[in-house]
Amino acid sequence: MKKILSIFLILILMISTCSVAVSAWEMVDFMRIGIYYGTNARAEYTLTSETGFDLGYYDGREFISEVETYDTQMRIVKGAGSYLSVLNLGTGETLYSFDTVNYGLGVVPKEKDSGEQMMKITAKATTTYRGGFDFKSVSNGITAVNVVELDDYLYGVISREMSPSWPKEALKAQAVCARNFALSKLGRHKDSGFDLCNTVCCQAYSGVDYEAAGSYAPVDETSKEVLLYEDELVQAVYSSSMGECTEDVKNVWGSKVPYLVSVSNEYEDTANVNNGIWENTLSKARATEIMNSKGYNIGTVTDITALEYSEAGRVLRLEVKGTKGSEIFTKERCRTIFAEATLSQMYTISGGGKVSYPVVYTLGAKGKQSVSLDKVYVLGAEGETSFYAVSDKTTQKLEGATMGDDFIFSGQGWGHGVGMSQYGAKGMAEAGFTYDEILTHYYDGTHLERFYTEEEETTDEIEEVTDGLGDE
Ligand SMILES: [Zn+2]
Repeated sequence: MKKILSIFLILILMISTCSVAVSAWEMVDFMRIGIYYGTNARAEYTLTSETGFDLGYYDGREFISEVETYDTQMRIVKGAGSYLSVLNLGTGETLYSFDTVNYGLGVVPKEKDSGEQMMKITAKATTTYRGGFDFKSVSNGITAVNVVELDDYLYGVISREMSPSWPKEALKAQAVCARNFALSKLGRHKDSGFDLCNTVCCQAYSGVDYEAAGSYAPVDETSKEVLLYEDELVQAVYSSSMGECTEDVKNVWGSKVPYLVSVSNEYEDTANVNNGIWENTLSKARATEIMNSKGYNIGTVTDITALEYSEAGRVLRLEVKGTKGSEIFTKERCRTIFAEATLSQMYTISGGGKVSYPVVYTLGAKGKQSVSLDKVYVLGAEGETSFYAVSDKTTQKLEGATMGDDFIFSGQGWGHGVGMSQYGAKGMAEAGFTYDEILTHYYDGTHLERFYTEEEETTDEIEEVTDGLGDE
């Protein structure tokens, strides 16, 4: 679970760097997902399927079967030139050879009478996948691409983006976002021979092993559904938590998108979610190090100031002053420049040796938290670092911060703040909202629509015609 969560968090951070471009799109049955490629291509693979395999080749997303084998375990190895060979694991007998110069060698597990036959692929580790594999001989080994039905792919993706134990309506909203994302990025890695990769660069995917009991219904119940703005596929971006309001995309990535505007996020329980409220310290030395490492040579950092905030409360312009000059960062850079201290763009800065009032903390069940002075009244002080103060609820001894040199970033929300808040979606689902209400709330002016591939539409038409004839 910890692993799932950490991957999910990296994903949030990665998505933040994507651009929000809308392009023409198509519904597809199958996706090509890169599993082993680039420097990760392996010299050979062992495949296992208890029903045996169909062997042939892949023409894009379409499998063309040439021979079949009831051998349950086999190896894929390199042959002469761009040839790949399929060998029986035990005897070493060659079952099939294929020149992968134009098309990849295709391997699909044979169907079984009941249920779906899945394939195990052993390279670095053994992993189970739905669908088939497309192998290609490359200079440093053999690339392996999983050719998998769109919804089968989403089963493996969804639990890595949202906890499968969350309410179903929130998971259904997430499933639609993941489908939209997959379709909007079709062919993103075309030059490498696949649509999407299996890392957080696209969407984290590790096949069947990451599926959970809660993964299926959200995908099945939204099958073929996509979120549209007019006729455009919505760039359904999201992040973990967002505080009171989501952010207008123009304040994060620059360009305006009609459905990515600031909306209320009132169902998110920000104070009680992971990293919903945060406070981080950054020393001047560390700030200087970061600026230098990113190529901003402004000498030793002396001050960091938020110059401007958006209506929703996120930093729009951040000034960093140094002994040799200053830099101004805008929009998303206000979050990413000091990423280790700022989990979102929604923060205030204190400390830095320039505070005109002490920062006071309460020491409670949630640990050390800063309290703004307009909510407390200082009754007395003990030395320089302790204050007695009273808030509207309690009188307590508060630990006052030294007027130190460190910068203190206090903020809320985790991630870029655009589109759907995942914790907000959870809160809405718990309050009884349905997934379409959640989606159309966070993506303003959008609607859901079910789409079929051309092939499915043709099949439907034929069935209709046949029905019509039957009636006569
Ligand atoms: Zn990718």
